[in-house]
Amino acid sequence: MKKEAKKNLIKILKVAAFLALSIIIVLPYLIQFSVYFHEKAHLDVFERYSVNAVYKADFKTTIYNFYFGDVGNLGHVDYDETQYNRLGKYQKAEINLAGLISDIEFLIIIVILICLVNISAFWRIANNKKVNLSLILALNWLLFIWFLALIKIIILNLVDFSGDLFQLIKYLK
Ligand SMILES: [Zn+2]
Repeated sequence: MKKEAKKNLIKILKVAAFLALSIIIVLPYLIQFSVYFHEKAHLDVFERYSVNAVYKADFKTTIYNFYFGDVGNLGHVDYDETQYNRLGKYQKAEINLAGLISDIEFLIIIVILICLVNISAFWRIANNKKVNLSLILALNWLLFIWFLALIKIIILNLVDFSGDLFQLIKYLK
C-alpha cells in the first residue's frame, strides 16, 4: 500500500473509532449525568418537604440500560410513600416540575456550550490564530448527540403515563 493511502486509512479508522466510542460509551454516560441532575432536582424538593428519599443508580449498567433496558433505570429516586402521600397537590406537582426544569436547563446549557465552541473557533479564524479543527468538530459532535438524546429522553418522560408531565397534570386536576 502506498504511504499516502495508508496514512488516509489510519485517519479514517481514527475518526470511525471516535464516532463509535462516542456513541457506544460516552453518550450513555452524558445522559446518565443529566439524569442525575434531573433526579437530584426531585430529591431536593423531597428533602425540602421532609420526605425521606434516596437517589439510586447503577453506573455499571448505564450502557445496557441506555440501549437495551429501561432508561428509567439510569437513575431514580426511592421515597417514603406514606410521607409523600401527606403532601398537598402543589407540593407533589413541584416535585415533578423540578425534574422537567432540570432537563430544560440542561438543553439551554448544551446550546450555550455549542455557541461558545463555535464562536471561539470563528473568533480564532477571524484573528488568524491556529484552530484545532478536529477538536472543534469533536466537541460539536459530542454536544449535538447529547442534545438529541436528551430531547428523546425528555419526550419519553412527557408521553409516559408515569412520567413527570402526566403526574403533574394528575395532581393539578
Ligand atoms: Zn422525573
